[in-house]
Amino acid sequence: MTDAAARNDGGAGTAEPHSDAPYAGSISPQLLTERMLLSALREHDAAVAAEMARERAEFLAAACLRFGTSLDQELTYAAIAGLSLPGLQGWCVVDVIEIGGSIRRLAVMHPDEDKRVAAHALVDRWIPAADDRIGVPAIERDLHSVIVTERADDAVAGAAHDPETIRVLQWLGVGSLLVVPIVGHGILLGAITFVSRPGAPPYSADDVELGEAVAMHCAQALEAARLYAAARAAWAEAEAARVDGEGARAVAEMARLEAEQARRDADEANDAKTQFLRTMSHELRTPLNAISGYAQLMETGIYGPVTDEQIDALTRIRRSQVHLLSLINSVLHYAKLETGHAEFDIRSIELGDVLDWALSLVAPQARAHNITLAVGTTTSTDRVNVDPQRMRQIIVNLMSNAVKFTNPGGRVELSSEREESTVAIRVSDTGIGIPSDKVQSIFEPFMQVRSDLARPHQGTGLGLAISRELAHGMGGTLTVSSTLGAGSVFVLRLPVG
Ligand code: ADP
Repeated sequence: MTDAAARNDGGAGTAEPHSDAPYAGSISPQLLTERMLLSALREHDAAVAAEMARERAEFLAAACLRFGTSLDQELTYAAIAGLSLPGLQGWCVVDVIEIGGSIRRLAVMHPDEDKRVAAHALVDRWIPAADDRIGVPAIERDLHSVIVTERADDAVAGAAHDPETIRVLQWLGVGSLLVVPIVGHGILLGAITFVSRPGAPPYSADDVELGEAVAMHCAQALEAARLYAAARAAWAEAEAARVDGEGARAVAEMARLEAEQARRDADEANDAKTQFLRTMSHELRTPLNAISGYAQLMETGIYGPVTDEQIDALTRIRRSQVHLLSLINSVLHYAKLETGHAEFDIRSIELGDVLDWALSLVAPQARAHNITLAVGTTTSTDRVNVDPQRMRQIIVNLMSNAVKFTNPGGRVELSSEREESTVAIRVSDTGIGIPSDKVQSIFEPFMQVRSDLARPHQGTGLGLAISRELAHGMGGTLTVSSTLGAGSVFVLRLPVG
């Protein structure tokens, strides 16, 4: 079989007129008759050509109109599939290449009433294959129109793939084939295969031109539909993102409102707690002061003579009263700090002042326990930005703890060192140390380490919790490192003033 795989540039052709001798004034009747006949023939040919051109133009205009009615891809496919091809006398097959690259046989159309249904029924079962010589596979390589004039029925049968389809195709009738590509921006989008009736003249250059014009309009329609589909998908995605965003914003807003409510609840609970502690400490302080007052009066003998044992008991009562009072004060103090109700009077002071004051305060306690109180390297002239009273409270707490938890003969040292934007104040001791699993929890309120090494100590278990809150309140930190049985080092870091 031979394919004429090139444009057929010969038209149906009309007979060329003779090259007549110029009119010489006298014409024979025979010559006159010949000329009149020739002229009539020319007029007829011109009329036929004009009619064909009109039909083609009408067809193209109708195609444009059909394709222009919808941007929806499936409706565009339907518009292409509904083409009638008056100018090309025969039937046609339309293939399109889908987004994923697969070939979809969109339509098989026959102009004859009795063959239309059978042609249409082929659409679903006539599957294109890669080596077909019709449809998209026939032009996939060079994107040019293909004309098959010889043994076109074999080419169609070869592309049929099953005997029933071959039978139907032969019944539809095969003369010659014209396969035109549907190309948009250099990309193959599909192909239209025109099949002429058996015995019809081969496709002319005008036919190829018309087929290619139809294909061009198909391409434009397909591209517009695909762009529209892409735009719709992008819009849908953007819309989904907008809805998601709105949902996320609503969730975030809800979370914010919940957090705000939780914060308000917590504030209210804190306020209630502080208020409760204030009332409670006030209520407790009054009878406690009365206990102390009456114990003192009894000690003076105002209610009659007091024995040594009774004085001893009264002293214990007063010691317990002092402890209880300090516990109440500490609880109240801690609650105030923890709930953010404490106020700090921050100013720049010289470090040395506070260190000297703390040393002088703890010295008697150290002496009483036979503990050496030492001053290491200090940077006393450094200035710190603190609330002086709170800073003193922390250092005294650390030093009296160091003395309290160091056995007689041990040593407690106070030193300081300038760091980048802080001053580190160290209180180290050679005391009992803290077990490693307890070292962080000693900053929790009411935490007291019980161990064989610890001698019985009086304390509230709130000193370090308060000290750490105070350090944080001044923009500083309080940390500890310790070795059980060897001693501890507490480091208070405060902002440089
Ligand atoms: P308190 O001294 O009133 O018990 P603190 O909060 O000041 O309360 O201390 C909590 C606990 O931390 C103490 O009971 C003790 O077990 C431990 N502790 C504090 N300082 C030292 C230290 N220098 N050496 C060993 N243990 C310490």
